[in-house]
Amino acid sequence: MRHFAIVGSGPAGFYTAEALAKDFGENARIDIIDRYAVPYGLIRFGVAPDHQSLKAVSKRYDKVAETETVRFVGNVTVGSDVTIDGLTALYDAVILATGAPHDRKLGIPGEDLPGVVGSGGFVGWYNGHPDFAGLDPPLDGTHAAVIGNGNVALDCARILAKTRAEFEGSDIVGHALDALERAGTRTITILGRRGPHQIAMTPKELGELGHLDQASPVVEAADFPPIEADDALEPGQRKSINILREFAATQPDPAKPKRMVFDFFAKPLRIEGDGRAERIIVERTRLDQEGRAVGTGETYVVPASLVISAIGYSTPPMPGVPYDDKHGHFLNDHGQISDQLYCVGWARRGPTGTIGTNRPDGYEVAEQVKTAMPPGSDGGKPGGEGLAALLAERGVEATSFDDWRSIEQAEEAQARPGSPREKFVNPSDWMKVLGRPG
Ligand code: NAP
Repeated sequence: MRHFAIVGSGPAGFYTAEALAKDFGENARIDIIDRYAVPYGLIRFGVAPDHQSLKAVSKRYDKVAETETVRFVGNVTVGSDVTIDGLTALYDAVILATGAPHDRKLGIPGEDLPGVVGSGGFVGWYNGHPDFAGLDPPLDGTHAAVIGNGNVALDCARILAKTRAEFEGSDIVGHALDALERAGTRTITILGRRGPHQIAMTPKELGELGHLDQASPVVEAADFPPIEADDALEPGQRKSINILREFAATQPDPAKPKRMVFDFFAKPLRIEGDGRAERIIVERTRLDQEGRAVGTGETYVVPASLVISAIGYSTPPMPGVPYDDKHGHFLNDHGQISDQLYCVGWARRGPTGTIGTNRPDGYEVAEQVKTAMPPGSDGGKPGGEGLAALLAERGVEATSFDDWRSIEQAEEAQARPGSPREKFVNPSDWMKVLGRPG
């Protein structure tokens, strides 16, 4: 018998559990440990609430959690309730699937002013992440700016632009829905330090901006290279550029009061304001031979009382786990960190790719585990029973997948009409549903 612990219950964790469960069958027990009583990580806290079809992938993870040989162990924080060394003493292999929840810093003056938030915080706020439920982003101003040209920047901009009615069917949390409805936002500037050809946005997500009830995209035709240059783009990127070109060729709808302004070749130099963010000083850029943005010396002002930096994420380091400072994830060789320690997903390769990218990633690492300790072999470890004993000794109340089902039902029961659920945003509320001390 082999015992495996997966730390983190997001997509990477679940795909790895799925692969290990298939590979090992009755020859292994797999525990998916999460610091929260609610599973699914990025699916619950990261994927946009108006993209319910993406969130539906959690149904597949449900099946994994319901497999006889897999357990969800919630409400256990690795690092404080149990250390990595503690886990490797109990399990044959420990797989870190802790994602990349930390916002990368802009590294410019003024980024700590009130009103400047990282996309992780903003996304966590509207998705009911306990750490960000109290973020209270300033939405009283008419101008907001989003820094970055990736899909997360698009998510943030779209959420700012939507009306209450457009959130029908979504699971945006009530506090965010109410605040966004009261917001005064009229102009959302999306700042990209490079040009349209260099965006990291995908066509489906970009196309949505053309169909918003109250907002029109604004793109400058002069920002594009000659149309022949599009031929060299890979097909997905060409589709995105076509959408941007269409936006540029279309007048903003005068009946819609909000504008989503794509400001390309725009590098933020500093954020200024009297005790809070009021404006971004931006430098116009051009591309050098290698396609990097270089400043031209020309600067201008973009007004913004809310600045969301959506420029990527990093994995928080863990004591005793080798870390790649440059890339912001664990140091690993194809997912292997050391004899018993592995990592998957964004904790392995950084914050890129779609949810589905984590599937081959998890399967590949499971394959490595299988090679190192073939099904049928025995490591003599105590596994989940050992963890249960250790947690009991430390007074930690672990929660199960059935507990999550109870929380899920309570969230569904309190949903507003048309919404699948209203999330509890405090861990103490999850425990209250379970009738346990928070
Ligand atoms: P991303 O795709 O890596 O985009 C980051 C953006 O930030 C890039 O445009 C980058 O520009 C810019 N940037 C980085 N450092 C900067 C700086 N110092 N100043 C100004 N701009 C800077 O990251 P992401 O948007 O966080 O998305 C993470 C992953 O999740 C991606 O793979 C994304 O596709 C995926 N995702 C998918 C969906 C979906 O499918 N619906 C939704 C959300 C996220 P440069 O190119 O110039 O570096």
